[in-house]
Amino acid sequence: MMNLNKPLLIDLPPENWRFDDLPSYRVSQIQQWIFEKGTLQFEEMSNLPANLRERLQEEYDLNPMEIARAQGSADTTQKFLWKLRDNQFIESVLIPATEGTKGVRASRMTLCVSTQVGCALGCKFCASGLDGLKRNLSTGEILGQIILARKKAGRRIDNLVFMGMGEPLANLPALLPALDQILSPNGLGIGARHITLSTSGLVPKILELAKYPAQIRLAISLHGGDDETRRKIMPINDRYPMKELLGACEKFIEMRKKMITLEYILIKGVNDDIKQAKLLAEHANRLNAKVNLIPYNQVEGLEWERPSQEQIMAFKNKVIEGKPPRVTLRMEKGHDIDAACGQLRLREKTIEDKVAL
Ligand code: SAH
Ligand code: SF4
Repeated sequence: MMNLNKPLLIDLPPENWRFDDLPSYRVSQIQQWIFEKGTLQFEEMSNLPANLRERLQEEYDLNPMEIARAQGSADTTQKFLWKLRDNQFIESVLIPATEGTKGVRASRMTLCVSTQVGCALGCKFCASGLDGLKRNLSTGEILGQIILARKKAGRRIDNLVFMGMGEPLANLPALLPALDQILSPNGLGIGARHITLSTSGLVPKILELAKYPAQIRLAISLHGGDDETRRKIMPINDRYPMKELLGACEKFIEMRKKMITLEYILIKGVNDDIKQAKLLAEHANRLNAKVNLIPYNQVEGLEWERPSQEQIMAFKNKVIEGKPPRVTLRMEKGHDIDAACGQLRLREKTIEDKVAL
């Protein structure tokens, strides 16, 4: 059993690891073990003197989570359910993608990362928000997902998408220090252009993120072309209606000189009519934004469904007609293993609830 009274070392920035005058070369060695070699056990740090390893062990925890379950196989989508030190569950999804044509094929690894246990925003279609927010993840718990998934994959992770459980912009105090370590060459060394934050539209936080020095990519979960449609499925729209949200996007783009993406889940009979497609194209044009269409992934116990293939194509074609810079249709790779955010945890919880009865 892990001792929760001990602080988690990777919750702290490395410059604060210099307890008791630990020399900076020792800090660098520990950083290398953790971020380069993916070691989350002090006893494995063989170039540290034994008494230092013991002292570290006495004062800190290093491993933020244990694997509770893995689903999928190495060459397809893999999903990890993690058990945190306080027995809460979160999940991360590892998605390989083969890119390139005519023999020059490169395979890239994308990790979908969680930022909270649950979510307070309660979008009606989403498994993550069903039970509300349990708590924010700490910096080390965000980093731990990447370090451990990379170890499981046995190879480098090229892209990060913060599209797992939770609302990343509702946890900026833990996420921004995690991003510092993700970006740092002494940390995980993943470039800002390979990192995407997805938000349901927390307007003030979008503006706060615009001030973060690195050029992280931003994706907005729009899911409706007008307030009436969006508020049916996203309660957050009452707090920050479309006009304010699109205005914040405009400001973000102006400040960053960077394109954003509008994500749009397609839910049968809710937001998949052609009028919404036309509005979506108009918003994308106004913002010079890319559009990513995502056919809804069915969640057990929820009534929402994915539209027919014909409706999906008709919607897509209507958006393309409006000529936004780019339109993609995400083919859900993890469909067969409940890869939409929050679903594996939901299942685990249901099993636990059943066991508890
Ligand atoms: N909270 C953030 C990021 C996590 S959700 C956000 O909402 O943007 C990441 C993306 O997955 C969002 O666009 C979300 O709307 C989408 N999503 C949630 N549940 C889904 C489901 N069942 N099928 C398809 N996409 C889903
Ligand atoms: Fe939270 Fe995003 Fe799910 Fe909405 S879609 S409940 S913001 S995780």
